[in-house]
Amino acid sequence: MDSILEFLDPLVLDKAWAYAMPQTLISLNQTDSLYPELHDASLPAISAWARDNIYRQMISIYIITAIGAAAIYFICSFLSYYLIYDRRLEYHPRFLKNQVRQEIISSLWAIPFIDIMTLPIFLAEVRGHSRLYTNIDEYGYGWLFASTIAYMIFNDVGIYWIHRLEHHPSVYKFLHKPHHKWIIPTPWAALAFHPMDGFCQSLPYHVFPFVFPIQKYLYLVLFIVVQIWTIVIHDGDMITGHWTEKFINSPAHHTLHHMYFTVNYGQYFTWCDNYFDSHRAPQPELDPIHDALKVMRAKGLVDEQGNPSRRRRVNRALHYHDFMTAA
Ligand SMILES: [Zn+2]
Ligand SMILES: [Zn+2]
Repeated sequence: MDSILEFLDPLVLDKAWAYAMPQTLISLNQTDSLYPELHDASLPAISAWARDNIYRQMISIYIITAIGAAAIYFICSFLSYYLIYDRRLEYHPRFLKNQVRQEIISSLWAIPFIDIMTLPIFLAEVRGHSRLYTNIDEYGYGWLFASTIAYMIFNDVGIYWIHRLEHHPSVYKFLHKPHHKWIIPTPWAALAFHPMDGFCQSLPYHVFPFVFPIQKYLYLVLFIVVQIWTIVIHDGDMITGHWTEKFINSPAHHTLHHMYFTVNYGQYFTWCDNYFDSHRAPQPELDPIHDALKVMRAKGLVDEQGNPSRRRRVNRALHYHDFMTAA
């Protein structure tokens, strides 16, 4: 987070804070005799809150992370939903009415609360209490590579156990059930959590830089990647039979987690699920698209092969014709 503040302070935040919290006239008058140039209108405005002011840092971090999280969520979910997600799944009997709308509202409701819970951690990073470092030579390229692996393993094991414990009956209903409202999730469900659930599952990647040294730009990239990965695994894409699915916790794995609840708790990899006996391999027959197509067939929207039916094609052509003649 300090690297983002370092970048945004001279670019926009100095000006914004000079406007929002300017040097008072009193303090200017007091320094008038010593620093008459402060009255020079051509000089850049100065904020009463310097860059290391803790209140300025708190508010700046809160706004940046809220906007950043919402931006990543909207851009990646939009791309995933329109480019990858098979929207025929919306005909699945367990797909809720207005589900996409509900997922977006739930996500937007969660972001500011997750953000406020995470704020002390980001603040501690910015104020130098973590083990983030700038100069790669401090630990060398070997550690740069090893810390990336360590970060993935630390997150994978941490999130696996936090997620699995959240399925314990004593906390499930309160904490994690809201995320399992979506039996057939879409990418818009990526942040549709109870805020405490979202915060708990993010804890491993926030704790990591306080335990292990990690280069700050590498950490920033890995942090953004994990946000994107969370969206990707909700795209419902049931690719099966690919060699990577033995190791990678794919969207197919996470789709099965939403459908069967007690399998595939992992984040990036399947190692923990395999080792702790909760892995369920994606199989073509488990694909929820089959039930969605049954409904579509019953409505006459697709033929036996799942292709748009002749009636649907004719309807589309008529709509297009009406549209063109109206135009
Ligand atoms: Zn999920
Ligand atoms: Zn779960």
